[in-house]
Amino acid sequence: MTELNPKSKQLDFSGVPGSIILTVALPVLVLFLYLLSNDDYHLVQVSLDFEAVKNIVKNQIIDNWRDCFFNYNCWIAYCSWFFGLAVMDLIIPGKWMQGVQLRDGSKLWYLINGKELSLALITVLLGRIYYIGDFNLPELAFLYENILPLIVTTWEFSIILATFCYIGSFIPLIGKNGKDTKERILAVGGNSGNPMFDWFIGRELNPRVGYWDIKLFCELRPGMLLWFLLNIAYVQKQYLKLGYVTNSLLMVNIFQFIYIFDGVLNEEGCLTMIDITTDGFGFMLAFGDLCWVPMTYSLQARYLSLMEFNLPLWAVVMITVIMLSGFWIFKSANNQKSYFRQGKLPNMKSIQTESETKLLVDGWWGLAQHINYFGDILIALSWCLTTGFNTPLTYFYVSYFACLLLDRQKRDEAKCSKKYGKYWKQYTEHVPWKIIPFVY
Ligand code: NDP
Repeated sequence: MTELNPKSKQLDFSGVPGSIILTVALPVLVLFLYLLSNDDYHLVQVSLDFEAVKNIVKNQIIDNWRDCFFNYNCWIAYCSWFFGLAVMDLIIPGKWMQGVQLRDGSKLWYLINGKELSLALITVLLGRIYYIGDFNLPELAFLYENILPLIVTTWEFSIILATFCYIGSFIPLIGKNGKDTKERILAVGGNSGNPMFDWFIGRELNPRVGYWDIKLFCELRPGMLLWFLLNIAYVQKQYLKLGYVTNSLLMVNIFQFIYIFDGVLNEEGCLTMIDITTDGFGFMLAFGDLCWVPMTYSLQARYLSLMEFNLPLWAVVMITVIMLSGFWIFKSANNQKSYFRQGKLPNMKSIQTESETKLLVDGWWGLAQHINYFGDILIALSWCLTTGFNTPLTYFYVSYFACLLLDRQKRDEAKCSKKYGKYWKQYTEHVPWKIIPFVY
């Protein structure tokens, strides 16, 4: 009989040293990006004014360390946000769906209520604007004025959440009869036995409290929706300052609104994503979902809110075409795989593997092994292009994202070639391009 939780043989991110470096370096990088684009210093040209950045570090972080690292108001606000959404996630009705089959043969049930929850959230927001009488919501102003302590709060929160999940992964699950216990399913890559590495990468595959799935919740709710709120906080700030909103800021907001709510509304598709099916939930995912996504993905909007930058019509058209093409590839490729896996596209060409699974070699999936990543990279590029070409800072997102997807492609290739053996080789002979047809 195969062991349910074998020891991890290969440690991603260069193992323990890599996990220590990333635990420190990623939050520092988020802080650094903030320092380059805020009310006190705004990087608009290529060269960096180190003296100005040093002064902000001194004034806002060192001299103000208590407010920065132990900000009571931000903790209250963030806990209300996180646990408020968790309660909404649990009580708002939706449909129940099963995830992929786990190693012990079982499947987890998920409550899919993204549509209902988004509707509730947007209704509350519009209700607040109606109640206040204009677009000057104090909660959005609070977000804008507290970005730095909020970055630190979400980072600290991620450390606590990852620790909670790590400790919980050692406590056996109680069976349905209330007496028997059963082993938790651990992530293939998160069971090295080294506490630092396992805490960082995530030891348990699907940490849950009752039927509340912490990983899916963090992936789609508090971080993604905070990103949306930060973006509109930047619009509000610019509107109050200039009396109107520039077309560049409006564009990046509309594009990202589409992307955010596409993710939140299509949570069924997320159930087959690598993060949910394969990765454990530790500091890396917690920090990524709760701090990295809202604070760095909103960088273009923050940058644009600080200046009056309008794009010419030709640029608006060109960037919109890039965004729509990317979105079309991203969406239709992901849908095609999902529908095919559900048996809804029986006439498409595929390779039958030894297990029940078939590998699609037709449509989008006949063009490249991860054509959906190509769509996502085009989307990322369109967001960065709205900021013009003054500074490389705002191109951080597309550069980082391309590296992330490249790493995912490599990890997925290793996983699939192990899982499908000769059938995967057969597939790669049919479809040699990895992400961009005829390029890579
Ligand atoms: P994919 O959607 O590409 O899923 C890969 C998995 O699909 C493989 O492990 C395999 O799973 C299955 N598969 C691979 N090839 C085939 C095929 N030819 N036919 C059928 N099944 C196949 O990757 P991700 O989960 O990484 O990404 C999903 C989406 O999320 C992408 O569009 C990506 O761009 C986006 N994304 C966005 C991020 C963000 O921060 N905005 C971060 C990460 C991803 P199996 O073992 O089941 O066969």
